Amino acid sequence: MSSIEVLEDRCVGCGLCVKACLYDAIEMKDGLAVIKDNCTLCGACVEPCKFDAIILRQAQRENVPLEDFSGVWVVAEQRDGELHGVSFELLGRGRELAEARGAELSAVLIGSGVEEAGKELVAHGADRVYVVDDPALRHYLDGPYANVVAELIRRHRPEIVLTGATAVGRSLIPRVAIQVRTGLTADCTALDIDDADGLLLQTRPAFGGNIMATIVCPNHRPQMATVRHKVMKALEADPARSGDIVNEDIPRELLETKTEFVEFVKDLTQKVNIAEADVIVTGGRGMGGPENFPLLEELAGVLGGAVGASRAAVDAGWIPYSHQVGQTGKTVQPRLYIACGVSGAVQHLAGMQSSRTIVAINKDPDAPIFKVATYGIVGDVFEVVPVLTKRLKKELS
Ligand code: FAD
Repeated sequence: MSSIEVLEDRCVGCGLCVKACLYDAIEMKDGLAVIKDNCTLCGACVEPCKFDAIILRQAQRENVPLEDFSGVWVVAEQRDGELHGVSFELLGRGRELAEARGAELSAVLIGSGVEEAGKELVAHGADRVYVVDDPALRHYLDGPYANVVAELIRRHRPEIVLTGATAVGRSLIPRVAIQVRTGLTADCTALDIDDADGLLLQTRPAFGGNIMATIVCPNHRPQMATVRHKVMKALEADPARSGDIVNEDIPRELLETKTEFVEFVKDLTQKVNIAEADVIVTGGRGMGGPENFPLLEELAGVLGGAVGASRAAVDAGWIPYSHQVGQTGKTVQPRLYIACGVSGAVQHLAGMQSSRTIVAINKDPDAPIFKVATYGIVGDVFEVVPVLTKRLKKELS
């Protein structure tokens, strides 16, 4: 493992390292630099130290030939035994990638009392599930979970490792990449195998969503990527599918942590989770203010859907961030997406354009949202939405 140390006989307490640290992870105590627990081992403090008083020891990359890595892995995410939908979606795409590589598809499942979840992963396409089941792993904690995944990677050497770009996945997987000394592409929207050299082609938006960049990891293994929920398609569950459930023992010291799980707090501001909703009614700046969002709630209520928002509406404080759709919000794929007073900026489209049916209501006939809309209504939201709600109420009652 990597580590960092301040050599007390060299440190003069000049504080240059404190200024260089991007994470506020160094403090001065009694004239000496002291590294705090939130140090990420990024090494930014090492060079500025004119007295060579900070030593960063990087974990050595194991010298294993690239050909010794094989198989596609999905690191599954669960809470209280319930799997996150993104795990099934990654198994769906992972199946195709594994077939293209002539390799097996495996899942990694970490938790406590997760036996049933293991079977579900097999039903959704996994040939094998590596299970680490331990009471110490009942709740997600960065350190132990990252140690477990890194240990399994060192043992079994997969060629590709995928996980969801969820809050948990985004926290976990960079820590794993650092431990196994490989690259990571975050927030991919497409994954493919290059026919010529078998490398994983990892495509994601770049430069504010204006271009799509395809990234490869040619020199290190595994090739690692995160993918957002609702971007890829899950396979139909087949309870008759068979696969191996492999229970793995992990050394106790890898489960030790200074972090304590206190409580899981659900976001109570949202009646329906937009990432899971079948119908979403989204409001943009054209809604004029928070006092007008009840119009959208009423329409969403009639359709059994959820209310979404553009970043402009969220930034204005009209609605909490958990409702934001788009590149820096949630990616959604409902059956019906109704955009009200949303212009259709590329960053918004990135989060909703694969919705099955898109209805756009905007008073500007040239608004870019109409380019992706299945049905466009040029008009004032304050006239159109109440009429639509009334009509749908009547039709659906
Ligand atoms: P505007 O662009 O101001 O559009 C308002 C629309 O409402 C206009 O088309 C107008 O004609 C229409 N309108 C006004 N009044 C009425 C009315 N009475 N009736 C009908 N129509 C009306 N944006 C996101 O949404 N999600 C993201 O995740 C996101 N991430 C971003 C990331 C980056 C790095 C950057 C740079 C930007 C991001 N943005 C994101 C912001 C994005 O570029 C736009 O600024 C934003 O989407 C605009 O929101 P809007 O459509 O509500 O507002």
